[in-house]
Amino acid sequence: MLAARHIVSRGATSCVRAWVRAPRAATTSLLLTAPHVQRREVTTSERSGGKAAQGTVHYQAASVTVASTVPLTATAMMQVCWEGGGTDVYPYVWLRDNCQCSICFHPVSKMRKLLVEDLQLGVSPSDIQVVDSGRVIEVLWSDGHLATYPATWLHQRAFNTHKRDLRNNTVRSKPTLWGKELLENLPRASFPELLQDDSALLQFLQQLESHGLVVVSDTPTKLGQLHRLSDRVAYLSRSHYGETFIVESKNDPINLAYTAAKLEMHSDIPSRKYKPCIQMLHCIRQFHGEGGDNQLTDGFQVSHNFRTLHPDKFHILATTPVDFIDIGVEDGRDFFLVNHDPMIRLDINGQIQSVNFNQFSRDSYFRVPVEEVAGWYDAMKTFRDMVNDNQYCIEYKMKDGDILVFDNFRLLHGRKAYTIEGERVLEGGYWEWDDVLSRRRVLQAKLSNE
Ligand SMILES: [Zn+2]
Repeated sequence: MLAARHIVSRGATSCVRAWVRAPRAATTSLLLTAPHVQRREVTTSERSGGKAAQGTVHYQAASVTVASTVPLTATAMMQVCWEGGGTDVYPYVWLRDNCQCSICFHPVSKMRKLLVEDLQLGVSPSDIQVVDSGRVIEVLWSDGHLATYPATWLHQRAFNTHKRDLRNNTVRSKPTLWGKELLENLPRASFPELLQDDSALLQFLQQLESHGLVVVSDTPTKLGQLHRLSDRVAYLSRSHYGETFIVESKNDPINLAYTAAKLEMHSDIPSRKYKPCIQMLHCIRQFHGEGGDNQLTDGFQVSHNFRTLHPDKFHILATTPVDFIDIGVEDGRDFFLVNHDPMIRLDINGQIQSVNFNQFSRDSYFRVPVEEVAGWYDAMKTFRDMVNDNQYCIEYKMKDGDILVFDNFRLLHGRKAYTIEGERVLEGGYWEWDDVLSRRRVLQAKLSNE
């Protein structure tokens, strides 16, 4: 079942780069092309007298041009003055390290060949030339290497906060936080379109990234559709519940999801250190009486407001590790998972990275100093009430043929109780964000080049 996934080679992300390297290392030419620029060739070996070690680079040009450069010897940086105003500075060691020629980077794998053991940390320029009407800077380094840097390439990598923000947002777009108002404008996609149309697929992945939630409709109401969608997106991520799992009422359930009872808001499987990133729930047969509605809350929005309203409680939840466990048997295999993580996990910038909220799988072992216990409960209860507040929580009853796709690092989901057993059947599965973001970047690069 796992055949023909969209495997992306290590080099594939280079599609987003504005230039490509030459396939042959023997030539020493620099080729510049752009719609508004005449195609022309610059022979770098002529400029350097053919003495410097150099590789080959082919570039696609450049709307940005360089007016001049200033070596800043005291700080070992090169200042670049841009045509039209503005300057940026680049450390010599970074410039030398990132020469993109075929000697310094492998042209096919795009992987670094110049390793740090061969990098002179005190390297400095012996000569700097602005060439080709400011589109390229040539640097002859003190180690004898001649490097060429396209102006656009440098400009994109400038060490200023604006460029860093742009890059941050390209790698992973910022979340659009939401509350109950999202129900009027749910992000949606069509299953048949996702299978056939790359533009629709890209929009779906972008919505998943920005809102953490998309409802996919018009899916055939039989098992195996998550595999079909996954063939277009990413590998299914196997957990101890299998590659996919069926959610329906069962006798002797190993998980409360497999009953008709109300399911309190939660994230899936925080008992795993690498908990599932993205959850899919395919509604094959919905219960048509009262109940069974899905409840969804943007955990980032709640955490953000929780932080503002209750900073002390936020701090407690973000710094107190909890044990989440999952013990049972699935498909004849025993499992015993334990993960030690705070309920709100922050990244190195203090931004909310993941919400781990799951009352069912919270262990009775609580590895904290005893005087911290009561305060933690108080903080957790306040957070729980906000998660369930209808200012944040939306209710959506899936229709037959819907797939609810949502970010399990961000959203909390629950389900209202329903009464007749066996009437509601869902197939669930997971994806990893790494694979999904990779697919989004590849599609974005592909479609922007068409
Ligand atoms: Zn090089």
